Amino acid sequence: MEIRRFIFNLLSENTLILSGMPGKCVIVDPGFNSPEERGTLLDYLSTASLVPEAVLLTHGHMDHVYGVAELQRLYGMPVYMSDADWPVLEYFQRVAKFGIPAPDINFTTTPVEDGSRIKAAGLEFLVITTPGHSPGGVCYLEEKEGAIFTGDTLFAGAIGRTDLYLSEYDDLIRSIMEKLMMLPGDITVYPGHGAPSTIGEERMTNPFLEPFNEPEETIYDEN
Ligand SMILES: [Zn+2]
Repeated sequence: MEIRRFIFNLLSENTLILSGMPGKCVIVDPGFNSPEERGTLLDYLSTASLVPEAVLLTHGHMDHVYGVAELQRLYGMPVYMSDADWPVLEYFQRVAKFGIPAPDINFTTTPVEDGSRIKAAGLEFLVITTPGHSPGGVCYLEEKEGAIFTGDTLFAGAIGRTDLYLSEYDDLIRSIMEKLMMLPGDITVYPGHGAPSTIGEERMTNPFLEPFNEPEETIYDEN
């Protein structure tokens, strides 16, 4: 799998272009917003001769969806998102403030559920629902590639905010502990902001999971 990361918009959001075969790609959380960012992304796709076959949204927060409507108009591909995040998308579209522009939400989504599988661009993603940061938060696990796209659920050394509209701290911790931390330690974590990590690294050192941090080999022996 080829992965290209762009860091877009005022909130330094990670937009990821994934490809498992020539000519096709999947875009995770297209957050390009300014004309410059738009140019950067569209130029990259045309230079690399990549056609997006799907957009995967980890959740509906504005910084993750700025580019979705335009991409769907240009390429017509399905946009996967949990229906549980439409209220969030609409809320933040209405109340955009602090100098942060509202997103264009004139796009359609294909709903995902826990256990859904999405095949596109030579890759296959298992949907893992991880509510908490938002009610419809999901992670996308590419098992063969050993990679998970966690959006704002889990970061390198941090977890998602839960002071936002419809966020729930208890749900977030439960999602992380019961779903993400049960995965093999060598899976690479690609979050929605900041640098990549691994499940094992977060299990051992993430300060927000401190009460649960354990040496990986004693508690989560995979053999
Ligand atoms: Zn978010």
